[in-house]
Amino acid sequence: MPRAVRACAPCATLTDAEVPPPHIIAQVPVRAGTLVDMRRIGDIHTFEDRTLQRWMTHASSAVLGATAALAVGLMVALGACAPGALDRPLAGVLGIAPLAWFALCGWFAAFAVATFALLAVHELVHAALFKLFAPRGVRITFGANWKVGMLYACAEGIVYTRRQYLVIALGPSVAVTAAVLACAIAAGCPVLAVGIAGVHLCGCTGDWYYVRTILRNPAVTHCEDTTWGMRLFGAGEGTGADAADEKGAAA
Ligand SMILES: [Zn+2]
Repeated sequence: MPRAVRACAPCATLTDAEVPPPHIIAQVPVRAGTLVDMRRIGDIHTFEDRTLQRWMTHASSAVLGATAALAVGLMVALGACAPGALDRPLAGVLGIAPLAWFALCGWFAAFAVATFALLAVHELVHAALFKLFAPRGVRITFGANWKVGMLYACAEGIVYTRRQYLVIALGPSVAVTAAVLACAIAAGCPVLAVGIAGVHLCGCTGDWYYVRTILRNPAVTHCEDTTWGMRLFGAGEGTGADAADEKGAAA
């Protein structure tokens, strides 16, 4: 059922009012008092999309491999060239200091706790950005799909501009990585920083797939995040996915 979009620049809110022609699923203001029609370009059903999941698996594996190589390389390089800058517990592993089991267990515990805590922090960053670009009073929801092991924050019903959505999608990758590197390096644990940041980035690949999809299609001008994935819209007249669907159904 097509839904109209209420004017509330720069993004828009879907309502059930003012049902537009069938291929128009949303309308947003391009300037005060002006509405522009939008056509549906496509949907991404995140939890069912095999192409997305395959891409995520490959990207996450690549990031994990790069993280392991970088962490080990950094550990060996610091151990050889600047042992004072190396995470203290790892000096024992390299044999350049006495092995302190207690400190080493603490190092791994910090890695595990930070990795799990960042799952929540990641979604909170998305939520803060969803809120930042949405009209006042919009409720952000959180959920999980345990079958595919994904958490999500969602602002269903809000249509964001292409640029806003790209910022929302990439926000955690940039902000969390920068914060982790800054904190762990300040704490004198550069290898831990690389490990935590890298493992967090492994969980960002779904966001990167969204970004990749948007960047590969210049016709996408607006996006809506949903509990099942995302919807892509294009501003202006043209043959949208709805019209194509109808054509296919009629054939
Ligand atoms: Zn994310």
